[in-house]
Amino acid sequence: MKRLIPLSLALLAAPLPALAQNNTSVSTERLRADVERMVAFGTRHTLSSQTDPARGIGAAVDWGAAQFTAISQQCGGCLTVVLPEQMVSGPRILTPTRLRNVVAIQRGTERPDEVVIVQAHIDSRASDVMDAVSDAPGANDDASGSALVLEAARVLSGQRYPITIIYALLSGEEQGLHGGALLADYAAQQGWQVKAVLKNDIVGGSCGSDGVCDADHVRVFSEGPRADLSPSIRADQRRKGG
Ligand SMILES: [Zn+2]
Repeated sequence: MKRLIPLSLALLAAPLPALAQNNTSVSTERLRADVERMVAFGTRHTLSSQTDPARGIGAAVDWGAAQFTAISQQCGGCLTVVLPEQMVSGPRILTPTRLRNVVAIQRGTERPDEVVIVQAHIDSRASDVMDAVSDAPGANDDASGSALVLEAARVLSGQRYPITIIYALLSGEEQGLHGGALLADYAAQQGWQVKAVLKNDIVGGSCGSDGVCDADHVRVFSEGPRADLSPSIRADQRRKGG
């Protein structure tokens, strides 16, 4: 699982003067509150309810969209919120299922077709990946990353940048990276030149499963080309990010 700190300001080059009232520093309180809110949906399994207003992936995705909309209201409408969707199926989605991502677009002032994507997955899973009924709080995996994406939007939307920032909450990831594929297709449709994708998964967990704890470093996974790279493997790597 990949994790990154918020956020690569350096990647975005020097920001232009601040617009705004938006928050200029990261709030641990907001991060915690967002994680707790996502846990409160009970499960965010991709195959859980799309229509229950309190429990399931539908409610969670709607909540994520509402957060971005509220953030945008604080920056004079600087975010465009869209929910690309598609019917998907696969080995972990046995019947065609509606899949929605939440995407907020902060347009660049100089080269808006160049984008940096900051993403996490809002869906969760239980021990049995096909169990869409049991509680699956997913506080670490990946409400933590989703909270990071929301907080990044709150903080970075207070300034303008030469290129576009995309904030994305993906669903369908635990069922086979379907949300990532949907976002990739959406990016292609929009003609975006994707300069970087910062995928945040299990953020802030400083202790590994081997018991070793290290709170002072951030692990960045960024795979280089393989020795046996072929065109088909390259295409697969591009699609899946590794
Ligand atoms: Zn994850």
